[in-house]
Amino acid sequence: MTHYFIEASYLLASLLFIYGLRCMTHPESARRGMKAAELGMLMAIIGTLMHKDIISYEWIIAGLILGGTIGGVISYWVPMTALPQRAALSLAFGALAATLVGIAEYHSHGAEFSRFKMTVIGFEVLLGSLTTTGSLIAAGKLQDLLPGTPLTFKGQKMVNSGLLIMMGLLFLHLIFHPDAAWAMALMVVLAWAFGVMLVLPIGAADMPVVMALLNSYAGLAASATGFAISNNVLIIAGTLDGFSGFILSVAMCKAMNRSMSNVLFGAFGSASESAATGEAGHMREVGIEDVATQMAYARQVVFVPGYGMATAQAQHVVRELSDVLEERGVNVKFAIHPVAGRMPGHMNVLLAEANVPYSQLYELEQINSDFPNTDVSVVIGANDVVNPDARDNPQSPIAGMPILEVDRSKSVIVLKRGKGKGFSGIENPLFFKPNTGMLYGDAKDTLSKLVHAVKDA
Ligand code: NAP
Repeated sequence: MTHYFIEASYLLASLLFIYGLRCMTHPESARRGMKAAELGMLMAIIGTLMHKDIISYEWIIAGLILGGTIGGVISYWVPMTALPQRAALSLAFGALAATLVGIAEYHSHGAEFSRFKMTVIGFEVLLGSLTTTGSLIAAGKLQDLLPGTPLTFKGQKMVNSGLLIMMGLLFLHLIFHPDAAWAMALMVVLAWAFGVMLVLPIGAADMPVVMALLNSYAGLAASATGFAISNNVLIIAGTLDGFSGFILSVAMCKAMNRSMSNVLFGAFGSASESAATGEAGHMREVGIEDVATQMAYARQVVFVPGYGMATAQAQHVVRELSDVLEERGVNVKFAIHPVAGRMPGHMNVLLAEANVPYSQLYELEQINSDFPNTDVSVVIGANDVVNPDARDNPQSPIAGMPILEVDRSKSVIVLKRGKGKGFSGIENPLFFKPNTGMLYGDAKDTLSKLVHAVKDA
């Protein structure tokens, strides 16, 4: 009877995970999707706790309390801007858990493993270990504990290839000699080293792609764990995680018009690349009153948020400004680039938090043709995603990346603190165009001043 209950709870959990993923394809249903996935996870935990092999609950309860407390504290205290590094940490914990399950299983009766079981456990431990250290390095880079620029050295690719070959040989050895515990230990150490070496040469802003990929490894490791311990929900959830992570990383690469190998091995954002282009000229500075007047008497204003809006936490005040403009009869739209910010959906999440209606959000393909009809485009802490060089200069490191073509609007106002570059580290010719005005300052402060100035206009 218990067996049927467990399998039924796993089936329900799997259905809820699939439904949750489906809902996450649109911002409007994403919150419902998260709730469904949470409920699915609860069902999976309840089902697992009914398992007949559990002889004592003390350690499990201790783990639940400890894990629940850490998770609760993290989600309460971590600011929205630190979400990418928080996700990287969760990934490291998940991968470590998968690794430990594999090692414990091997430790208990590894010497008697069949070839199939050794393959599955080896796969789990290998992917789990490299994902653990890779995610920790990703979190360190995103939190500025480690340099965000790519760390490269001569012969790096040789070292990485050497590590990969040695891990492969040890794995093979284990499949034919599962009692070789030394090979398992050495494989774990090499996989840890490989995880570090894999992520060090990648720039901080490419971390979301890397994390989606590591997430996919962690999912596959979990799925392998499911095969190893005959757990259906782990097989299904791990496979969903593995493939959705992979699809997400490919989608991000596509939105930046870069190949996966360029992201992983291209050391994008390094010093040499930064010097690749350079635009000379004059940036025209404008004042609050001037911009407020332009906006107040415009027919259509398009806000283009980017990473700077996230760091400034300016989403609420931009909503306020949008309301004030709408009250004056201005048509207000928000243009969302798929890789604006530092993680997929970053801008959607922030604007949803500020209750900006979904009907005002426009994707790149929808809004680009509308820029020539736009009186004022207000770029809020975005840089690379509005860089016309991606469209006009085939030599540019970001050539071919789809951009929001704000330069085609009648007037462009750029809100940023100074002359800082975007993630790609290259100059942006948009800032030198005659129809562009630069409004310097922290985005939140500037927008607050604009709210007052538009009211007075
Ligand atoms: P961006 O190119 O990184 O530019 C952000 C700009 O915001 C900077 O030029 C900075 O200039 C300004 N800024 C920073 N703090 C600010 C503040 N408090 N107030 C006002 N301005 C501020 O950002 P983006 O246009 O959003 O482009 C995202 C980049 O990340 C793209 O290159 C994309 O390919 C990459 N990326 C994104 C993802 C993703 O999933 N979203 C994944 C991988 C890579 P100042 O320093 O002068 O203020």
